[in-house]
Amino acid sequence: MENYLLDTDFIKIQETLDKSGSIIITTHTNPDGDAIGASLAMFLYLSKRGFMVHVVIPDLYPEFLAWMPGAKEIMIFEQHPLECKQLVKEADLIICVDFNNLKRLNELGDEFRRSDAAKILIDHHLNPSDEFSLKISFNKISSTSELIYDFICESGYKSLIDKHIAECLYTGIATDTGSFSYSCNYVKTYLITAELFRLGIDGEHIHRLIYDTYSESRLRLLGYAVSGGLRVLPGYHAAYIVLTKEDLERFNYQVGDTEGVVNYALSIRDINLAALFMERDGQVKVSFRSKGSFSVDRLAREHFGGGGHRNASGANCNESLDVTISRFLDLLPSFGEDLIHVYND
Ligand code: 5GP
Ligand code: MN
Repeated sequence: MENYLLDTDFIKIQETLDKSGSIIITTHTNPDGDAIGASLAMFLYLSKRGFMVHVVIPDLYPEFLAWMPGAKEIMIFEQHPLECKQLVKEADLIICVDFNNLKRLNELGDEFRRSDAAKILIDHHLNPSDEFSLKISFNKISSTSELIYDFICESGYKSLIDKHIAECLYTGIATDTGSFSYSCNYVKTYLITAELFRLGIDGEHIHRLIYDTYSESRLRLLGYAVSGGLRVLPGYHAAYIVLTKEDLERFNYQVGDTEGVVNYALSIRDINLAALFMERDGQVKVSFRSKGSFSVDRLAREHFGGGGHRNASGANCNESLDVTISRFLDLLPSFGEDLIHVYND
């Protein structure tokens, strides 16, 4: 068995799964390629095993993921609350992938909290909450999609991984590693990716579907974000991008349009901490990215009520845009050396 699975509830999860009549797979708000890839791979796998299974998620996924096998069957709580509530009522098992706290599901999370169904977590974020009955939580891995690959293989069903499931898993691995540029210093990630190619996926085509399908307004929004929207603070080794509600309206913002934008602020030499502040629906969505040892998981958790990974985290803040940005700026002096020497570990 993959060693890390031995330290989790893997065996108990198999037993729970075998007893389940109606299963929901769910993931976090503002879902990305790994969230949707891991959910759909699990959905296709369990469907092939004959389980009654639905994917129910809080809000819409980006259009650039709509081609994914099974995507059309995803139920979106924001669009169909009554149908989703009914599915939650009928479910006796809820499989939670690619997030670690039901808070991240907003109102759908409340529905799950009220449900008596067993809740299983399969995830690669730090610091999972204790709301889950059983857990596979492991963070030294590229993505939740890679975890799902191991999960299926260790369950004895490697032969069920077909081209469609491989496309979902590859999308999750490729997007969560920034097309194999971070969180991917693991031999295993490449061996698994090679297996997925053996199953016939077309990696170049998938790349085009995800990254070469921008609308003109999305590209212009990116252009604005990295020019007018960008502030650089070389003294603190930090940079941040601000997108107000008006900016987003001006560029006809659609779900997913700011995916990856924060990384441009981090691409500047000697900038080790980057942030994106985005004013949305009365909240401020914050994304943090860092290089090396500086932990933005800690920054997001301790000061913004969010979380994530060491080098990529996020939060949703209820204060105004100005107050949220000030909170960030006020913290910078306290980081001192931590933001200078980030490659000492
Ligand atoms: P992004 O900035 O791309 O939205 O998210 C970066 C990472 O942080 C992802 O792994 C995402 O799951 C996590 N993340 C984003 N927003 C939140 C949040 O509000 N709370 C927590 N705990 N994690 C978040
Ligand atoms: Mn992920």
